[in-house]
Parts: sequence; structure tokens; C-alpha cells
Amino acid sequence: MHFDAHNHLASPSFTPHLPAILGDYATVGITRAVVNGTEESDWPAVATLCGSVLQPSTFNLQLLPSYGLHPWDVGNRSPAWLESLRTYLTADPSAAVGEIGLDRWILNRARPDDPRLAGLRRAPLDEQLAVFQTQLALAVALDRPVTIHCIDAFGLLLETLSSVPLPRRGFLLHAYSGSAELVAPFAALGAYFSFNAAYLAPRHTRLRELYQKIPLDRLLVETDAPAMLPPPAHAPHTFAAAPTLNHPANLAAAYAALATLRDLPLPALTAQIADNYRRLFLAHFPA
Ligand SMILES: [Zn+2]
Repeated sequence: MHFDAHNHLASPSFTPHLPAILGDYATVGITRAVVNGTEESDWPAVATLCGSVLQPSTFNLQLLPSYGLHPWDVGNRSPAWLESLRTYLTADPSAAVGEIGLDRWILNRARPDDPRLAGLRRAPLDEQLAVFQTQLALAVALDRPVTIHCIDAFGLLLETLSSVPLPRRGFLLHAYSGSAELVAPFAALGAYFSFNAAYLAPRHTRLRELYQKIPLDRLLVETDAPAMLPPPAHAPHTFAAAPTLNHPANLAAAYAALATLRDLPLPALTAQIADNYRRLFLAHFPA
């Protein structure tokens, strides 16, 4: 029973592959996933997908919708974004908030011609911060867990999270790549940290060491699919027509690699991750 703490299963790039993906989910035993939206235009697809899969279906698949404005998409938001977000969240009491966050990388390090950023107005950090805080406050008001994207802005993120009300159930720092020193202060605020198999690439020695030390009761596993393609040895599932896409069923390989990294039997790790996932993402369901 593998649980994906963070993916984008409603991505248009997956639409033609969805029946095959759900078949692979059943084969490798993926039964829970948080399906994240990142911009106003993809929230309807998240709602439709999560509502369309029978829950529980024949293989007990539960897709949890999560709605948010990603920092890359902050610059292109419409004047109606916040009302729309509130509408999606209040329509489904099980829905989470995310992915939201802070990203200094798109401002300072991203290549001007990065195709993933084509057509996006790159919002300055103060604008990202204002939108992040607005969404965080909405999550607190509605009692929802939050998924946070952060690249190159961990000091500002910690400072921000230390100074505002936080979701009662906690929050996920997805594919956390900050320093080892910040793990404890983030955890004290309620953070969970999701391991991504892209960190198994040889150059990510520091991140592998980091994920060996994350407290076990705050550890989750994710794919971020279709993004963050792992190295080939850890990506057994591929799309022949789209080899750069990360297949969501690669989650099972991420679990296996993390068990090795943590020197834990896979069943023990799997049970721990399920507990953590339920505590963060499922405990807010109304009684
Ligand atoms: Zn993501």
C-alpha cells in the first residue's frame, strides 16, 4: 500500500495515459495520492479527476484533491483567484491547500529560456510572499493541511511560518531540499518532509544524507509526477511516447530506495509512511 504525498495526476500530459496509469497503480499497490493543482486553470481538472475515480474503487484508490496557486503561477493570477480557490476548497471538505510556496530560483537561477517558465510573469519575492500568506491563512481558517514548494528561500520560509498561525494538522515541505540544520525548526512548527526519487541521482549526495536523518514520524514519499523524473534505475515505469515524463507508478521504486537509504525493512517503512500520511492529510476529514 503505497501513498503518494505529492503529484500532479490531473496534468494534461497524463490525460491520454490515465487508464494505463490507474492500471499500473493497481499492479504496484498505490492506493492513496494527493493530487495537486498549481494554477486557476488546472483546478477544474483536479476536481474532476478526484471526483471521477470511485472512492474507494475496485482497488481502493483514494485521490485527495489539493488546490493552490504555485509560486511560478503567482504572476499570472486573475483578480478572481482567491474567490475561486475558496470555492473549490469549501466545495470539498476533504480538499487540502497546495501547492503554494516561495521560489527564489525562478528569479535568480532559472535560465531565461527554460521552457517550463515560458509565458509566465515571474512574480518578485514580496508578491509571492503575500500570495503565500493569503493561502496559508485560508488553510488555517478552513482547517486544511498545506503543501509547500520552496526553492532557495528556506530562511524566509522559516521566518514566515514562525510568525503566522499555522494549519493545525501540519504542512508538507514537498521534495524538501533545505539544510539539515533547518529540519528541526521546521518539524517543531509541524512540518512533514516528502522524499523524491529524483534525489537518487548521483549528484544529490547531500540530499540523500539529509533524508537519512529526517524524523521517521515526519517522513513521506512523493513523485511530483509528471515532474522530477528519477534516474533510470529508479524509474521502471515510462511512457514510450513521452520519455521525459515521470510516471506516477514510479512511487513504488521510491519506497524501495528510501527503505534502503533508511536501513529499514520495506514493510516497516510502508506502515510508518501510511501513518504519517493519514495524520497529515486524512485526519481533517469531518467526523
Ligand atoms: Zn509539485
